[in-house]
Amino acid sequence: MSKRGKLVVVTGPSGVGKSTIVGEVVRRTGAAFSVSATTRPARPGEVEGREYQFIDEATFEGMIQRDELLEWAKVYGCYYGTPSAPVRQGIEAGRTVILEIDVEGGKQVHRHMPEATFVLIEPPSADALAHRLTGRGSETSQKRQERLAKADEEIAAAKASGVYNRSVVNDDLEAAIEQVAAIVREESIDT
Ligand code: 5GP
Repeated sequence: MSKRGKLVVVTGPSGVGKSTIVGEVVRRTGAAFSVSATTRPARPGEVEGREYQFIDEATFEGMIQRDELLEWAKVYGCYYGTPSAPVRQGIEAGRTVILEIDVEGGKQVHRHMPEATFVLIEPPSADALAHRLTGRGSETSQKRQERLAKADEEIAAAKASGVYNRSVVNDDLEAAIEQVAAIVREESIDT
């Protein structure tokens, strides 16, 4: 029996808890996390090569030109993209690979790999999302407003795209983690 890994794309608006959920899902399932490249500066506590590959614009643009990215997008003025090689290698090695990216990036992945699973994480309410973004304290208040305004748009765009075939509401964090973990485990069945 041959076992090729699968791709699970997790998306949702900023502050919805995707990173926390995906981090726990990776720990519990042993799936491979796809480390994105970004031109955004590292936040305190972020480690090069763990959360992101932190690179400058010229390096990122070189990766675009050399066609080294499975998808990329400019989010809040910074580049974010998924290096293709580790994703391909992980899948070929039979691992489930998880991408945590924005809605636009998910749509691009769908064009290349429509057989992937696309999970949309939704906040229970706009209020809950505002509260969470404030608690994180990693953005200025103007940036927070920007991200909140974008959250509604992102969810609407994700639904309109028809790409996201699974949806998880992050009402209770533990329940949301287990729902995403269950989706990832489904994706790890031998083919
Ligand atoms: P943050 O700056 O909060 O880490 O991420 C901002 C947004 O960029 C989030 O919605 C996150 O999912 C998205 N993002 C992270 N990595 C990638 C990527 O490789 N590609 C795309 N398209 N979006 C990404």
